[in-house]
Amino acid sequence: MVSHRIVLIFSKDIVDKPYTYHLVKDYNLLVNILRAKISPEEEGLLVLEVEGKRTDFENGMKYLKEYGVKILPLVKEIKRDKDRCYNCGACTAVCPSGALHINKSNWFVDFDEKKCVLCEACVKGCPTRSIKILFPDFVN
Ligand code: SF4
Ligand code: SF4
Repeated sequence: MVSHRIVLIFSKDIVDKPYTYHLVKDYNLLVNILRAKISPEEEGLLVLEVEGKRTDFENGMKYLKEYGVKILPLVKEIKRDKDRCYNCGACTAVCPSGALHINKSNWFVDFDEKKCVLCEACVKGCPTRSIKILFPDFVN
């Protein structure tokens, strides 16, 4: 099994096709939409988490490329301003995936990037506004 976070970019003329439906139905992939910016008049963008057998994933990506969809890896970074953060733990209470959690060996807040689902709850939940999520420019 493989799991990848990817960014799909669609030009205006192919934005209306049901790509995620086909990834699920024809390639047996589990698809979780993390972010979507789709409008009929503009270039579209989907940020997906895709999980499945390696061959199914490769065939699914091949299918997308044949339609001219651009596929990019999702590079993201969560920045925590250590000068402002006082390890209150409020962000761990709102983080649905456990990506932000309290390290019981030192009681500091740690971040596990692999678990993060980019929901941004921690950004709003931090009382000192210490957390910023940096997406690649084309995702913003
Ligand atoms: S909520 Fe903000 S201040 Fe509190 S631990 Fe998280 S990042 Fe630090
Ligand atoms: S963006 Fe969401 S999942 Fe990621 S660390 Fe923040 S609250 Fe947790």
